[in-house]
Amino acid sequence: NADVAKNRAKLEGRGSIRFFHQQLHDELVREHRLAENLERALNAQELTLHYQPQVSAISGRIENLEALLRWELPGGIAVPPHEFIRVAERSGLIHRLGDWVIEEACRQRAQWRAAGVPLERIDINVSGRQLSRPDMFERLRQCLARHGLGPREIGIELTENVLIEADERILKGLWELYHLGFRISIDDFGTGYSSLSYLKRFPVTALKIDRTFVRDAPGEPKDRAIMEAAVFIGHRLGLEVVAEGVEDERQLELIREMKCDLVQGFYFYRPMPAAMTERVLLGLVSAPNGLRAERGRAL
Ligand code: C2E
Ligand code: MG
Ligand code: MG
Ligand code: MG
Repeated sequence: NADVAKNRAKLEGRGSIRFFHQQLHDELVREHRLAENLERALNAQELTLHYQPQVSAISGRIENLEALLRWELPGGIAVPPHEFIRVAERSGLIHRLGDWVIEEACRQRAQWRAAGVPLERIDINVSGRQLSRPDMFERLRQCLARHGLGPREIGIELTENVLIEADERILKGLWELYHLGFRISIDDFGTGYSSLSYLKRFPVTALKIDRTFVRDAPGEPKDRAIMEAAVFIGHRLGLEVVAEGVEDERQLELIREMKCDLVQGFYFYRPMPAAMTERVLLGLVSAPNGLRAERGRAL
């Protein structure tokens, strides 16, 4: 009986190993297909940028936009950016993808400027692998020059982990950008390995408090405390503080009490295609949440 049990355990064990191999294999095949599809979509110019406004917490006025990459499969199914960007990072496609984002954001910024659309700047997300490319900063500067843009018209967002892992060359490159006038925001602030010492070394201009804190702040004193601390540190360092992912009135109220400078979230605006963004910037339409934005403006 004991032998039978032992044999069964052995068989089941082997079975589950085979099962894991199968899963891993399926996962790799899926990822490979996704990477191939993504490359095809990039070549076919099927990717787009959407734009989400960052508004003044006090006046509700739009200050900047964050550019967010969008990939829609035929049939209208959107692939979540987190998913395809991870795949792009692993396959190396992130470099071409990142170049496209920079080019497209600069082109759009220049077009809006030429058309007299009121806007301070567009911020783009830059991944760790992109940043580690030796000519990344040079490419960015060249792209701005090509489109006749000044350094204050495009900003970059980096996560804490990217900075913590950054080497001397990146440090130097970021300081050069900073001295030119580029804005450099820390994305998802509070969720990285959060050794705060990188705030001393790197030329940061804004902190974007991660939306998980914002989401939970109304019901959770710990999240509120962390947010208050983030606002305090940010302001003491002379940085702008942005609250990400604001979805309702209660969150907005807290954020105003905490004296966050800027707010980004569905409560005001969702990420929108360029054409819709333009109409919002021109004041031709109120945003999907226009009424609320109006109310924000009145306060
Ligand atoms: P992120 O940079 O932190 O961007 C903010 C994300 O929060 C966006 O998700 C945005 O749609 C979402 N968001 C904004 N307001 C709200 C809100 O009120 N509620 C909720 N639930 N979500 C809100 P998205 O567009 O899915 O992008 C996810 C992530 O993908 C980004 O996070 C960024 O890390 C990455 N990503 C997007 N575009 C690019 C890109 O062009 N390059 C790189 N390297 N990464 C990108
Ligand atoms: Mg971002
Ligand atoms: Mg973020
Ligand atoms: Mg994020």
